[in-house]
Amino acid sequence: MALVVQKFGGSSVADPAKLQIAASRACAEFESGNSVVVVVSAMGDRTDELIELARRLHAEPDPREMDMLMAVGEQMSIALMAIAIHARGFEAVSLTGAQAGIHTDNVSSKAKIKQIDTTRLRRELESGRIVIVAGFQGVDVEDNITTLGRGGSDTTAIALAAALKADRCDIFTDVDGIYTTDPRMVPEARRIDRIDYDEMLELASLGARVMQSRSVEIAKRFSVPFRVRPGGKDSEGTLVTDTEEMEQVDVRGVALEENEAKVTIRDVPDSPGAAARIFGAIAREHVNVDIIVQNVSAQGITDLSFTVRQDDLPAARRACADVIRDLGCGQLEVDESIAKISIVGVGMKNHTGVAEAMFSVLAENGVNIKMISTSEIRISVVIDASQGRTSLEAVHSVFGLGQGEEEDNVKEQ
Ligand code: ASP
Ligand code: MG
Repeated sequence: MALVVQKFGGSSVADPAKLQIAASRACAEFESGNSVVVVVSAMGDRTDELIELARRLHAEPDPREMDMLMAVGEQMSIALMAIAIHARGFEAVSLTGAQAGIHTDNVSSKAKIKQIDTTRLRRELESGRIVIVAGFQGVDVEDNITTLGRGGSDTTAIALAAALKADRCDIFTDVDGIYTTDPRMVPEARRIDRIDYDEMLELASLGARVMQSRSVEIAKRFSVPFRVRPGGKDSEGTLVTDTEEMEQVDVRGVALEENEAKVTIRDVPDSPGAAARIFGAIAREHVNVDIIVQNVSAQGITDLSFTVRQDDLPAARRACADVIRDLGCGQLEVDESIAKISIVGVGMKNHTGVAEAMFSVLAENGVNIKMISTSEIRISVVIDASQGRTSLEAVHSVFGLGQGEEEDNVKEQ
């Protein structure tokens, strides 16, 4: 007998018909002799609707009350899911995050799970029930309801799978799995059978937002392999696991990010501490900086460029204003018409020529590279926004990621 965790996202429980499909999956798993824990999100866009309701009453609603409010969405789903399972003649019990023993810190709306007390969960499972747990929520030491950040039901599911040492964890969602790139942009994109945790993390942070990143980090830390599967049809989806036993490819996927901006500060004094002050000020505004490039300096001054999300531009400008004045830097220039293309693959660690292949295909397409950044398993370039989509296609194809092309991309080990 295996212990299986199934997670159904908002789109997989959006209406009674979808709830029925999810319920039938849980029952089928139970009927085949397994213990089943089901984690559900709020139905459809319910969380957004709840947030919107609060905003109509207050421009900045109290964070504790927002957690109280947002947690309602998942609580509806668990009760309805239990009812749908009862209708099929099976025993099921719904549990809130607190009832399921999910203890968090007290940071409203982005609480972190500190510990899971599985006593109640185990008792319910042993009595032969399907256990339905509200995703995205927990409880702090003072019994306040907390939430885990948008998309947090993924984290609930993975954390429960880790705590219960589940044999399997299936994340049912509205996509068929993880793709070599966004199939809405590149129709040739192919579903990936297996992907490494690190590749998945890089792709998630690069715009392929299938799951909450934190959930993948937890899966990696506790070695919880899981599948991303379509809720609406029969497919194995994509297995997310560690690299061992995986085919070695240079590039597993390509991501396009179109919501960033490039900020350049001219004439920064080339002296110790200047960069620390600039990026210190930016960090204090909670702005995430991605690529940073400092030019060669001439006459003791240099230009400094970096990228931030476009929504973070006002905060980044605010952060830089004082430092620029204090340090006596020149102009701050912003370029919002940029796109970032990244290739990701753990196989890059062991293969050479990957960067060259990427840069060559861009050159053949007349694309000028404005910035480059690399990690062990990723290469990103910043280019002009107008060339983003075509470059994505070209890069995707040069690494043989399209349909029917997988053979070329498999390297001898
Ligand atoms: N319902 C929450 C949200 O929409 C959590 C989740 O869906 O995972 O963010
Ligand atoms: Mg949701």
